[in-house]
Amino acid sequence: MQRASITNNEICGNIDLPVSHILVNGNNVYAKYFVIHDMSTPAYENNFPGNINSSTWSKNNLTSWNWPKGSEPSHSIVTRTGKSKTLNDFGLGWRATKFEKKIGVSCRGLFLHIELLQPRIYPPGNAVSAPVAPTPGFTDAQYQRLALLYICASIRKGEWLVPAFHVNIDEGLKDGHDDPQNFELDKFTSEVLRLIALIKTS
Ligand SMILES: [Zn+2]
Repeated sequence: MQRASITNNEICGNIDLPVSHILVNGNNVYAKYFVIHDMSTPAYENNFPGNINSSTWSKNNLTSWNWPKGSEPSHSIVTRTGKSKTLNDFGLGWRATKFEKKIGVSCRGLFLHIELLQPRIYPPGNAVSAPVAPTPGFTDAQYQRLALLYICASIRKGEWLVPAFHVNIDEGLKDGHDDPQNFELDKFTSEVLRLIALIKTS
């Protein structure tokens, strides 16, 4: 991490500290699921701007994303240029899906959440949300940073977390979210394997 100049603020905290946990019969049960989201925002009426994958798109500036303390949507956000910042440390239990909110605070700590920046557009008609995502959905830089976050979380747990999609977790729930759209699992897997090989040889 030091050699690659990665700071704790980019990876949701110190990799020497444990991930969040819940208590089951007095025992710590550590986070199990690494939940991948797309932000589904900003939503455009017709077309995406041509520069959404460039630093010239203002939304790729991390300083443009701020939430009041306690209302952050996730543990981390990853811009389309592959930059990330900690919204909550991986050691802090955080709920970010309808499913977890329905279960209650007893599950707070079992899920880690990553928001990948992805805009949407509305189709013609009266849709209440914006369901159309760019193709391809995410940039290589996003898969690279997501893989790094996944490895950091898994090191802190001591075993691999289960990657999951928000859409599957909320499946069947009213107003469940549809993200991440156009996620390419093979690209994510390749980046995880590439990064592991890099760590082993460095
Ligand atoms: Zn989501």
